Amino acid sequence: MQSTKMFPDVHRAARRRYSILPVPKDLIPSTGESKAQILWVGCSDSWITETAALDVLPQETFVHRNLGSVMSNGDLSSASAIAYCVDLLEVKHIVVCGHYDCVLFKEASEAPTAIDGWYEDLSRLRAANDALLPDLETVQRDRHLAEVYVQAEVEWVRSQPTVAKAIADRGLKVHAFVFDKEEEACVRLVEEGGEEGGVAEANGGPNGVVA
Ligand SMILES: [Zn+2]
Repeated sequence: MQSTKMFPDVHRAARRRYSILPVPKDLIPSTGESKAQILWVGCSDSWITETAALDVLPQETFVHRNLGSVMSNGDLSSASAIAYCVDLLEVKHIVVCGHYDCVLFKEASEAPTAIDGWYEDLSRLRAANDALLPDLETVQRDRHLAEVYVQAEVEWVRSQPTVAKAIADRGLKVHAFVFDKEEEACVRLVEEGGEEGGVAEANGGPNGVVA
């Protein structure tokens, strides 16, 4: 898969307004079949069990994990996962699941290391987020960063030609999740004005950050 769009504008991403919703157990109904219907994109250091979060069978998921749930770098492994799942398996859903307290986010606030470059976009988003929310406590600011980051990744995934075509042609859905280790549960992020924007009052975003 050829990536055709860069990471979203970080200033716009940091200002995104969205709702933070619970993940209903029937968000993605189980088919009970041995066929992947979900591409799950997660972080390597998150403690989540995908099948428990969605209440589906292991056979229904194709799991792709890396450091930070980063798809927008367009690396061969991530691009292949999208191409394989969308074009060949014709999955019905892609879930990009970030999480609070990610090691990558700590790296992104410190001096460059051997993996500098992998999180370059995240570092830029962190700078925009910090500038936007200078008075917020670090924990809350970092939670907001985790939320806007996963939504930026979702925006990037949706913009890829093969994904955009599947969304238009057969109703592929791309979901933004964040996992909370403390709560042992995921939340779902829905952009204000998006397909489910009217479901709940927006409670996330720079002026309404939820701890
Ligand atoms: Zn992580």
